[in-house]
Amino acid sequence: MDFSFATANTIRFGAGSARALSRLLPRGTNRVFVATGSSPKRHQATLELLEKNGIDLETYSISNEPTVDSLAEAIQAARNFEPQIIIGIGGGSVIDAGKAIAALIHNTGDLIEYLEVVGKGRPLDYPSLPYMAVPTTAGTGSEGTRNSVIGVPSAGVKVSLRSPFMLPHWAVVDPELTYDLPSEIAAYTGIDALTQNLEAFLSKKANPLSDAIAREGIKRAARSLKAACGETLDRNAKSDMCVASLCGGIALANANLGAVHGFAGPIGGMIDIPHGALCGSLLLPVCRANFDTAMRRDPDGDLVRKFDEIAFLLTDNPTAKGTYAVAWLDALIKDLPLKSLSQLGFTSDLTAEAADKASRASSMKGNPVELSQADLKEILQDALI
Ligand code: NAD
Repeated sequence: MDFSFATANTIRFGAGSARALSRLLPRGTNRVFVATGSSPKRHQATLELLEKNGIDLETYSISNEPTVDSLAEAIQAARNFEPQIIIGIGGGSVIDAGKAIAALIHNTGDLIEYLEVVGKGRPLDYPSLPYMAVPTTAGTGSEGTRNSVIGVPSAGVKVSLRSPFMLPHWAVVDPELTYDLPSEIAAYTGIDALTQNLEAFLSKKANPLSDAIAREGIKRAARSLKAACGETLDRNAKSDMCVASLCGGIALANANLGAVHGFAGPIGGMIDIPHGALCGSLLLPVCRANFDTAMRRDPDGDLVRKFDEIAFLLTDNPTAKGTYAVAWLDALIKDLPLKSLSQLGFTSDLTAEAADKASRASSMKGNPVELSQADLKEILQDALI
């Protein structure tokens, strides 16, 4: 056994915790650059409280999943303001953008060079500016990860900027911020949270600590995802999904992911589809492929036992077996406002390109079984329906 484990310096969790951001900031903080989403007004009260504490704020709105171009503009705006601290308050797109701004504000090389897959994966020369991540979706767990996912339209992919410096200094997880999420967004971000915990748990690179955290995430997402997407506000379910999302981020940052995310990066760079929606369309076909391969190769092996444990975590039934985990996920996905890959706009002529790009994605390295090009294409065919 040989592993390392790292996470955000301070995690502050609780309903209402976003109302006290200034208490976490070091004394003398008076210039903060805030990345927000397309509706900065949503966070007006939170930001006014910072200003009341004598903090000069520059607010910058990130309206979509970040790309190299949108990020370059945001980084320039941050450099002009010369902040002491960066805060990102929004969905995973904003959290990732803020994290990348904090990382690159003092690292002035060509942005592409720092990226994985399409760039050189150049290490950062200087540490990130202290970064506070305040998520408003319960899905990506980006508040607990050391990477930002960035679209590179010229290469038709989304890839990561990754560095140990990028772990947020503070992760402030306030379930109240997710209370108004529309059902569809709650469903697709929530299925991302469940997927990340499942993929980290099954990953080749899983370790005892990432497993412990992923187990907690799977259990909470399984019992609360449906209720968190309902029309009636269920505070416990919302809180569970925020814990599940955080667990997924911490687990994946230490164990990597698998084929769902191996596909989601490249496909999200080829077509404009929300990340969580892609996860929802791919989770079942990938689970089926991994489970069937594991059963064929070694029905009594460790991987099948992990699927059996997943069945227990999902259903709370200690005798449930791996086959039931797959059936349970199928039923859950049918119950949520999620779509198939073809309903999301993916067409079968894109299959070869997506399979080829997915095989080179960093998340694919965690997948518990090797998947050939033919396997990858078959998964995509399965996800289309
Ligand atoms: P998102 O941030 O793109 O947000 C989805 C939609 O929800 C947007 O329209 C946004 O404006 C809206 N929204 C956000 N908060 C809201 C609220 N409280 N109420 C109402 N609407 C709200 O979606 P996401 O799934 O959170 O993030 C996706 C991004 O995160 C993708 O780029 C994905 O690749 C990336 N990601 C990063 C990591 C990581 O570890 N860094 C992990 C997984 C995914």
